[in-house]
Amino acid sequence: MYSDTRKLIVFSAPSGSGKTTIVRHLLNATDLPLAFSISATTREPRPGEIDGKDYYFLSVEAFKKRIAEEAFVEWEEVYEGVFYGTLKSEIERIWNAGKSVVFDIDVEGGISIKRHFGDQALTIFVQPPSIDDLRKRLEERNTEGPEQLETRVSKASKELQRAPEFDTILINDQLEEALVKAEKIAAQFISE
Ligand code: ADP
Ligand code: 5GP
Repeated sequence: MYSDTRKLIVFSAPSGSGKTTIVRHLLNATDLPLAFSISATTREPRPGEIDGKDYYFLSVEAFKKRIAEEAFVEWEEVYEGVFYGTLKSEIERIWNAGKSVVFDIDVEGGISIKRHFGDQALTIFVQPPSIDDLRKRLEERNTEGPEQLETRVSKASKELQRAPEFDTILINDQLEEALVKAEKIAAQFISE
């Protein structure tokens, strides 16, 4: 049995650590009562990404309008000129459907959610074995140009220092092991 309190599970990490892979696994390959918090962003969709499923893709103007309306629980200019944020309406939508909310957001965003929701939120820092591994994963994912890749890697070194501010650190070395651990951590938290 799962408790019926309104909960949030946050996966944060530097880009390339594997949080999207882990979150997709929890949502698609387990029967945990979870739903994904679809963030708003001003970046361009990647091939295959769908508006309203992966992100709500907004213009910078539309995003700023939502900020002024106080529609976000948290938002960040994650990269220069590129905004990402969690809409309050997303969390309500998911809770109203009787599920816990799962987030894939950056390190600052994860810390903001914890500050805002306290014990209702579990924050998980997904840690790559090393910066070199992270770089290799981003190179293999091949979704960024060389310049954007360097931006993400240099940001990652700073973000890794924030790991102790999270409730749990999940090391993503062998993917299968990390997936099993993520499942256990999520199941435990929502049953508390
Ligand atoms: P993030 O969402 O943190 O940016 P992704 O989930 O997109 O990261 O993972 C980055 C890349 O690394 C993807 O191509 C993914 O398939 C790969 N990856 C994820 N976990 C591992 C792992 N444990 N070992 C090797 N490659 C991995
Ligand atoms: P990407 O462009 O690779 O999809 O995401 C870039 C970064 O923005 C990732 O670290 C991702 O987790 C983060 N991100 C996605 N959505 C949000 C959000 O709603 N808020 C914050 N603060 N960061 C987000």
